[in-house]
Amino acid sequence: MTSSKSCKTLGAVTNEAKSMTEALILLDNNNYIRYCSDTAYDVLGLHPHEVVGQPIAEVLSSRLPYQTYQDLADSLLEMVANPTGCPQTIEVGCSLHQSRELMVTVLPMSPARDSVKTSVLIRDVTQERETERRRDTFIAMLSHELRDPITAIMGFTRMLLEKSSLTDNEREWLENVHICGRRLNAMTRDLLDVVSIRSDSMTVRLEPVNLQQILDEVLPVIEETYAGPRLLVDVPQNLPEVIADRNRLAQVLVNLLSNAVKYSPRGEEVRVCAYHEPRRERVVVAVDDQGSGISPEEMESIFAPFQRSHRLEKQGMNGVGLGLCIVKGLVELMGGELWLESELGTGSTFYFSLPTRQGHSPTQWLN
Ligand code: ADP
Repeated sequence: MTSSKSCKTLGAVTNEAKSMTEALILLDNNNYIRYCSDTAYDVLGLHPHEVVGQPIAEVLSSRLPYQTYQDLADSLLEMVANPTGCPQTIEVGCSLHQSRELMVTVLPMSPARDSVKTSVLIRDVTQERETERRRDTFIAMLSHELRDPITAIMGFTRMLLEKSSLTDNEREWLENVHICGRRLNAMTRDLLDVVSIRSDSMTVRLEPVNLQQILDEVLPVIEETYAGPRLLVDVPQNLPEVIADRNRLAQVLVNLLSNAVKYSPRGEEVRVCAYHEPRRERVVVAVDDQGSGISPEEMESIFAPFQRSHRLEKQGMNGVGLGLCIVKGLVELMGGELWLESELGTGSTFYFSLPTRQGHSPTQWLN
């Protein structure tokens, strides 16, 4: 259900709920159940006629097998009791006869309509998650298998390129093979990173890091890869060190800067700046471009794997759609946040934060 449905009448919403696979529960100002769709029986085993008119807290504690649904009940009650004014979504696991994963979304209705203040949507995502896990296992296996042949291609082309007897044409063809090998290598690395992030098996080695030093290593790589973009850096000299994994921070910056340059096809300026937020003991880094920009619809799923703008694909921009998903995973693993501001045709700014020494407990460092 989208937030636009909050403008519909209660009758229209409950009518639509009949064809939905999600369970829909509508709550009034006092968190009593005003409506419960029939699907609630399939998803939670709740009989709508038994729960309508009851307080949600009581229904969750007395009508559900509490041990099985404890996490769901606790999280749902927490979200309903402390509304943030924005939609909130969580996923919880529970096991009745077999383990299941449920996605719970709490949508505030502001202002309340037909005395409904909150809608709760509960979806069984067990099958989806299982399919994703199988896909990830397959991707990881394939990427591992591809590594050896790619390493061989890279090694042998490098050896051949060292021969002085090559004709100009032969050298050009071999260089093309070598470049393709490098791309394939990067792609398999990205695929493995995505799988590790999604399966929570990625680890980072955190230590105090000087951001300017990392930028000094990264900027020449970008300048060499993308013939002469205009890169401007604005990092204050007294910027505190951040707590990060040096290599992973470099990877985050390479990804964001490559995108900024790649999606600024007219060669516009790309800017990196950083500032300290003492109140939250964190450093914020902004990578800003004046390129193609991102539409609000694209923004909704931009951090999910394999998401690419069809608009840019049509313009022949190559890529796989893994970079931002990896950037988000890595930044969050290092204790930071990632967000963006963008306007179509005007440009984008990707921000990420990292904790400073004061904002981070040294016991969390892995070294
Ligand atoms: P890739 O660049 O390989 O497609 P990413 O995950 O890095 O993968 O980016 C996903 C999509 O987000 C891109 O395909 C593009 O549509 C959009 N995007 C990312 N960065 C920018 C940017 N700076 N400006 C415009 N669009 C961007």
